[in-house]
Amino acid sequence: MLDRRQILTALGTSALAALAPGALLAATSIKPDETSVLLVIDVQNCFLPGGSLAVKDGEQVVPVINKMAKAFSNVVMTQDWHTPGHVSFASVHSGKKPFETIDLPYGKQVLWPDHCVQGTDGAALSKDLSIPQAELIIRKGFHKDVDSYSAFLEADGKTSTGLAGYLKGRKIKRVFVAGLATDFCVAWTALDARKAGFETYVVEDACRGIDTQGSLAKAWADMAKAGVKRIQSADIAMSA
Ligand SMILES: [Zn+2]
Repeated sequence: MLDRRQILTALGTSALAALAPGALLAATSIKPDETSVLLVIDVQNCFLPGGSLAVKDGEQVVPVINKMAKAFSNVVMTQDWHTPGHVSFASVHSGKKPFETIDLPYGKQVLWPDHCVQGTDGAALSKDLSIPQAELIIRKGFHKDVDSYSAFLEADGKTSTGLAGYLKGRKIKRVFVAGLATDFCVAWTALDARKAGFETYVVEDACRGIDTQGSLAKAWADMAKAGVKRIQSADIAMSA
């Protein structure tokens, strides 16, 4: 006759066995496949230490991204790529300072120090990135009167960068987002990825935020509500 402990053990085992195959593994390890892409957002000199819009500890994402990228056969990078005198620059709005906001025809715009001007060293991708297999670089924010945090849609919410079409054309279904900054370009990219129908993950330790006026907490809340999955780089299976 089974004693109480044996019964509990037996119940526990059958309860575990009743889970879908792979469910236990998936909780701790996510394996990117041919339908997965890593989006490396704006790892550019302007956003790194010494840059005009440096994100605190931004350089710490580089080794994390380099390591994680080895698990992906599909990698797309983005580059913030502004005209001189871009509408998002505080310097073109008289009396305005960086991190203040203004109302533009497409909505509220945070004003930034001049950054990532086309062709400048500040706009270059970090030389410490080591992702030779990256297959596409999407440049964004190149229309002078419209910003573009998201890699998918400009800040007017309707002008496409073409990225969703590219990914769908490549039969990509899962999007993993990393880079700078968590609360702006990473979050807007992740939210638009969800809107475009992709299963979406943000790799928290592969991102750093700017956090102005509560923006970081709001970004995580918005992403959670939209069904974006928040993971760590250690959750990604590195073995072949
Ligand atoms: Zn920008």
